[in-house]
Amino acid sequence: MTASLFVRQARLTGHAELQDVLVHEGRIARIVATGTLPEAPAAEIPVVDVAGQVVLPGLIDTHCHIDKTLWGGPWVPHSAGPELVDRIANERERREEFGLPSPDNAAALLRTVAALGTTRVRTHTDVDPGIGLGGIESVAKAADAVRGLVDVEQVAFPQDGVIRRPGTLELLEAAIDAGATSLGGIDPAGVDQDPLGQLDALFEIAARRGVSIDIHLHDEGSLGAWQFGLVAQRTIAYGLQGRVALSHADALGTVPDVERHRLIDMLADSGVAIITAAVYNVPVPSVRELAENGVTLACGSDGIRDLWGPYGNGDMIERAMHVAYRNGLRRDEDLELALDCATHNAARLVGLESYGLVAGAPADLVVVPARTAAEAVVARPTRSLVVKDGRVIARDGQLVES
Ligand SMILES: [Zn+2]
Repeated sequence: MTASLFVRQARLTGHAELQDVLVHEGRIARIVATGTLPEAPAAEIPVVDVAGQVVLPGLIDTHCHIDKTLWGGPWVPHSAGPELVDRIANERERREEFGLPSPDNAAALLRTVAALGTTRVRTHTDVDPGIGLGGIESVAKAADAVRGLVDVEQVAFPQDGVIRRPGTLELLEAAIDAGATSLGGIDPAGVDQDPLGQLDALFEIAARRGVSIDIHLHDEGSLGAWQFGLVAQRTIAYGLQGRVALSHADALGTVPDVERHRLIDMLADSGVAIITAAVYNVPVPSVRELAENGVTLACGSDGIRDLWGPYGNGDMIERAMHVAYRNGLRRDEDLELALDCATHNAARLVGLESYGLVAGAPADLVVVPARTAAEAVVARPTRSLVVKDGRVIARDGQLVES
């Protein structure tokens, strides 16, 4: 049976007074100003007094690659060349040497992020003729190992291209049968050199199989912008508004202002969302501009300690800080917008029907020793408590044994 819990003196964004959160059967039953609950909760319900600390909804990583991670393994000096194609080739050459994909590495990383307050991840898993569905199976095994700590959903990801690697399309569809809930894509022009071919194929499968789409689009400038149009047109034509995302979307930061405005209008009209990782020196979309125009912007870790690069720790509050910092944001309300990329916007992007600190939502809570959400983003302190489906799963940055 899922747990019940009474969290007292929680500081929630949007409430001037501290609040008490009553959890019943794994869901938030009531949220009331501290001390105003009409009758005391049953004596057997555990009480946690968080003494005015910030309480956030469970954090969501909308874009990572846990099948690639070396987490828990040796330090591996980065060995790829400078271009995207070099990194793809390097990974294909070396992944076997490190036993990738590894369910153990992936599960170790998932345990780490659970203690950091991440309660859901959407991870892109490589699917290609070399590895087949091995990655999908490996991640499913890791997800099973952490059941009850963090929910995992997979994007079937054609890292090495779709059209240029015959057999990949069939494998992507097989990945849906194996449990993937989204189809990935990668630079239909830059990698595949056949933008219409890749996009037509992905949209046809997604519409027929009822899955969402999330395309890595690194192509910059007018080449990337042109593909925004192709994606927006197909999203509308197939009725997939709200179910399509562009990850990275570097074109937004590499076209003239007037063209960027046109692209943002196009995203708003077609219901296509954007995901940023705010990594390295790649362009980061404007948090405020997208929010003001009604475009969903979520964030994700992207690679975490893998053959693509040495960085990453899976901390979604830290990721929100990177998004805020790269945007030059300073005001509390703007830092909260950046945090939304890992909470409410992320929940919308992955299509959660019920989410947040509201009655009826699953009781996924993160307690942060900070005075405001903005301070939490800046300071990224060790999480005091993580609650998943009403059950305390971590205290002071460590998982609790159940
Ligand atoms: Zn990625």
